Amino acid sequence: MINPPVSVLLVESDAVDAKRIREVLAGVGRPVFHVESVGLCADALLRLQKGAVDVVLLDLMLPDARGFEVFEQIRQAAPDALILVLSAASDEATARAAVGHGADDYLVMGHVDAHWLPRALDYLLGRKAARDALRRSEARFRAMSDASPLGIFVSDRDGACVYTNPAYQKIVGLDFEHTLGSDWQLAVHPEDRQRALAEWWNAAVGPTPYQSEVRFVLADGQIVWVRLNAAAMTDGAGPLGHVLTVEDITARKAADRVLRMAEEALFAEKERAQVTLNSIGDAVLTTDTAGNVTYLNLVAETMTGWQRDEALGRPLAEVFHIVDGASRETAPNPAQLAMREDRIVGLASDCVLLRRDGIEASIEDSAAPIHNREGRVTGAVIVFHDVSESRAMAAKMAHLAHHDFLTGLPNRALLTERLSQAIGLARRRRKQVALLFLDLDYFKHINDSLGHAIGDQLLQAVAERLVACVRNTDTVCRQGGDEFVILLSEIERIDDAARVADKLLLAFAHPQHIGGHELHVTLSIGISVYPDDGSSADAVLQNADTAMYYAKANGRNNYQFFRTDMNTRAVQRLFVESSLRRALKQGEFLLHYQPQIDLASGVMTGAEALIRWQDPQLGIVLPAQFVPIAEESGLIVPIGRWVLREACRQVRSWQDAGMATVPISVNISAAEFRHKDFISGVAEILAETGLAPRFIELELTESILMHDATSSAQVLAALKKMGMKLAIDDFGTGYSSLSYLKRFPIDTLKIDQSFVRDVATDPDDATIVGAVIEMGRNLKQRVIAEGIETPAQLDFLRAQHCDEGQGYHLGRPLSAEAFGQLLEPG
Ligand code: C2E
Ligand code: MG
Ligand code: MG
Repeated sequence: MINPPVSVLLVESDAVDAKRIREVLAGVGRPVFHVESVGLCADALLRLQKGAVDVVLLDLMLPDARGFEVFEQIRQAAPDALILVLSAASDEATARAAVGHGADDYLVMGHVDAHWLPRALDYLLGRKAARDALRRSEARFRAMSDASPLGIFVSDRDGACVYTNPAYQKIVGLDFEHTLGSDWQLAVHPEDRQRALAEWWNAAVGPTPYQSEVRFVLADGQIVWVRLNAAAMTDGAGPLGHVLTVEDITARKAADRVLRMAEEALFAEKERAQVTLNSIGDAVLTTDTAGNVTYLNLVAETMTGWQRDEALGRPLAEVFHIVDGASRETAPNPAQLAMREDRIVGLASDCVLLRRDGIEASIEDSAAPIHNREGRVTGAVIVFHDVSESRAMAAKMAHLAHHDFLTGLPNRALLTERLSQAIGLARRRRKQVALLFLDLDYFKHINDSLGHAIGDQLLQAVAERLVACVRNTDTVCRQGGDEFVILLSEIERIDDAARVADKLLLAFAHPQHIGGHELHVTLSIGISVYPDDGSSADAVLQNADTAMYYAKANGRNNYQFFRTDMNTRAVQRLFVESSLRRALKQGEFLLHYQPQIDLASGVMTGAEALIRWQDPQLGIVLPAQFVPIAEESGLIVPIGRWVLREACRQVRSWQDAGMATVPISVNISAAEFRHKDFISGVAEILAETGLAPRFIELELTESILMHDATSSAQVLAALKKMGMKLAIDDFGTGYSSLSYLKRFPIDTLKIDQSFVRDVATDPDDATIVGAVIEMGRNLKQRVIAEGIETPAQLDFLRAQHCDEGQGYHLGRPLSAEAFGQLLEPG
């Protein structure tokens, strides 16, 4: 490299010296010196103003200025140029002073020769180059330092600050001057200072450079977090001090804290969620949008049989395998639906979860979409729980509500439901529905005599037998007590119902063996058919019930189809019949006694026993309400026996009490009279009570006697033989043949009250009554007029010489107690 010529300004007033110096410099090969020379200080200053002078060779003795003052002026004019002072040997002290004030060197004139001058210049140029390089370097470092975002703090050996950069000043909030001489450690927060110092000393003795994060307290009291890095400075010979970089990490620290707090919060949140999910009773399972499992809680693990680790990432259907409880078909995936429709969906009802090992559980609950912060669906959560128990309980409750406890058959409620359904269906399909109403014959008798336990077992056996007789599409139901109903939900013809009824009757032809007893139970069956016999469930049921009563009335062990003429009165009769049975058994009957009076004397000659029924609900029921029904059902036989026995017992007890009793009339019905055991029964009762037969008069109607006059005559003869009295009741209402009447051993004629009622006003009735009285007299029979209610009636009868009378006007029917008061002591 060729160095550029060195520009030299020679300031020398002595022309000889100037010439010599120029010659010396001209003779130097390298570097090449370009020399300009001036003789006056003023000229030198002018030249230096133009710049581009590398070296000034300066004589301090000039005509226009001298000594140290010259140097001062030149130095100011050319601060960057090298100044070599040329000095006389005599004035070396001044030259030295100039060097002391910044001159680069001096040369005594005697040495200004070809040897010393180039060497001195060479040396000075070398120094200048080094100094320029240093300055540039310094400038570079300063620029870097100024631009650095890191604070830089330079201290000397004693730790006192010798330099800080703007970033440091900014961090600590001081200007440059105020940072100088300070100690960075004093800026450290008191709480961090001890640590900072300890670390500083550790770094000083150890191999690792100092590094720390501490808080600085600024001049204004503000606290900043800084990160410190320090390195020792040496100059080779020994330590010079330290360079400390300071980074403001307040923002990062704050961010760290926020982050840490967020992390802690997140952790706590996650932990809480985890604990919650594992402690709730519900199973929780989540999936991603692809429908793969992303999470299961403990309950979900147990219920699905999948461990979380195994389940993660698997398709939901594999882990959460659900089927429809009824069809057994795979149930629709609720998670997919929840995600697709972005809403909470309930699981299909009757949903069954198949656990991994095949064990099933009824489950219930819902699936919901999971959203991210932007509200997009990122998956689904399914929450479910085992409802096997509650579903079983519900099923059991439903069963109980709809079934009979004893037999397990559907009960009345379920029957009504099914019947309505069947009718609805039949209506649409134009089919028929048959209902069979069954009642066990004489069940009550079995129940009462053998006990409820046997009765219950019998009902169970009956239930089984009934079920065995029908198709399983038919419903056998227990209606209550000993009543059962069979619903034939779809029949083609009415004959189908008859066939079933036949089958049932046949099935019950065999006895049941219950608890060591051989029990013959038969059925009375009423059948009604939709739509012919009723358009509603109620009507069909009601009519089957009515028909059943007819089957009962028809002698039991048979079936009857409903007919419209089977009205409810008939049903009521049957109800009364069953009530009468109870009345008989529970002693609800009693007798009233109505006096019979001798019309001439007014003396009581007898009394008629009249039955009364003391029903627990209805109160006193009169014979007109129940005697006809008792007669139709045959119950009149046992009832009549009771009446006779009671009358005998009562009279006997009055007699035993010392009363003078009168004969008591007892009404006898046709069924009693014709019963083969009638005579023996009467004899038995008389023997039993020990009553003399003459105290009893039996009242019979004309129609009874005329029904089979021959056999009637025989029975009457037998009774007469026993010593009893006989009367014809309600005389005049029947078609008596006088010839027969004469043959019957009758003691008394009772004129029916219908004639007596109008006897005072209706001449026809008066004539009839008169005739009967006359006839009785002829036949030597007592004549009693019934139903005397008024004095006019009484007067008429007296005038006609009627023997006796009976009626409200003479005496109402009285209770046994009241009647007993009328009797005189014997
Ligand atoms: P009945 O044998 O002709 O009895 C007379 C009925 O006339 C009684 O009615 C009696 O209370 C009623 N009576 C009496 N005086 C008068 C009156 O002045 N005016 C009116 N209007 N009625 C009067 P009751 O007790 O209601 O009996 C009605 C019928 O029931 C009896 O008619 C009889 O046929 C039958 N009956 C009563 N007790 C028995 C019984 O123990 N066995 C049977 N088989 N039938 C009985
Ligand atoms: Mg009577
Ligand atoms: Mg009568």
